[in-house]
Amino acid sequence: VERTLAMVKPDGVSGSHVEAIKTLIRDAGFTIAAERYWHFSEAVAKEFYAEHSERGFFPNLVEFICSGPSLALILEKEHAIADWRLLIGPTDSSRAREEFPKSIRAKFGVDSQKNCVHGSDSRQAAIREIALLFEQDQTA
Ligand code: ATP
Repeated sequence: VERTLAMVKPDGVSGSHVEAIKTLIRDAGFTIAAERYWHFSEAVAKEFYAEHSERGFFPNLVEFICSGPSLALILEKEHAIADWRLLIGPTDSSRAREEFPKSIRAKFGVDSQKNCVHGSDSRQAAIREIALLFEQDQTA
């Protein structure tokens, strides 16, 4: 089976959407292989989102991700990476509501930044993100 890294971001955790999201995850046929709450430090947030470091929204993104706890989950399923990306929907929650009303971002996201959930976008990203969030101590 394939593994992917899913994450409920601070807006999803503080909005009490964790249990509803886990139900949607299981109903879609994923197994939750591991889960771990993370309160991102600035250093880990910058490493997690390193590919976006040149983008204008990067400082806001880092601040948002550090603003409260997130829940990281390892999901397992055939085609887990693509299927989880489909289930979460487009980055912009408003667009998600227009185009993919059943997606998690349509249901629980606020906007382009507070979009409730994350999903790895490739096998390489999944391996990197799982290693970063599950294979080291929470001290960085
Ligand atoms: P993720 O990587 O979290 O699954 P994504 O692949 O849909 O999301 P990316 O383009 O990789 O979206 O952007 C990463 C994250 O940066 C987004 O999920 C969102 O939280 C934030 N972000 C993206 N675009 C914007 C924007 N225009 N303004 C503010 N924040 C943004």
